[in-house]
Amino acid sequence: MAKHDISKFKRRAYRKKKELTSFLRKVGNSKIKGILKAVAEAEKEVWKEVNCTKCANCCKTMTPTYTRRDINRISKHFNMTYDEFYDKWLQKDENKDIVNQSRPCQFLGKDDRCTIYAIRPTDCAEFPHLNRKDFRYQAKSKIYNQNLPLCPATLVLVEKLKLAIEADL
Ligand code: SF4
Ligand code: SF4
Repeated sequence: MAKHDISKFKRRAYRKKKELTSFLRKVGNSKIKGILKAVAEAEKEVWKEVNCTKCANCCKTMTPTYTRRDINRISKHFNMTYDEFYDKWLQKDENKDIVNQSRPCQFLGKDDRCTIYAIRPTDCAEFPHLNRKDFRYQAKSKIYNQNLPLCPATLVLVEKLKLAIEADL
């Protein structure tokens, strides 16, 4: 599979922004049964089209949120203290979340692979948070909506889910 053309996905997301945003809002406000099953089925299809190793756009344009446990684990790997690790790479954002100082992420390798994959922050391991138990709540919040132009997997999931369930909303 060739590298994903992020600008193409981005243009598609902006073109469909209105309809997908409105769909996500409807999902968030609905009491539709079987939503998690529909999301799980759509997600399976997503990974046939999207390959994160051909993308890495999240690692290039966003930052994970680090927990103290993440920092303890990753700093140990580099033989650094918690504070040394924090001072070198991290900072608090306006929500007081601990995030990277710079983007792309300092742990992204030249081949667009994560160099600390096995011990990466939990937020990275769970991103893009597609198959969550609180999917309806998340659909209502801004998370998926914000990620539509940034994450091809999120865009494709919302498109597929829309096709599958919009008529039932
Ligand atoms: S830690 Fe790894 S997976 Fe997480 S943003 Fe950095 S490069 Fe990407
Ligand atoms: S999670 Fe989304 S943005 Fe990150 S690599 Fe996968 S498809 Fe790309």
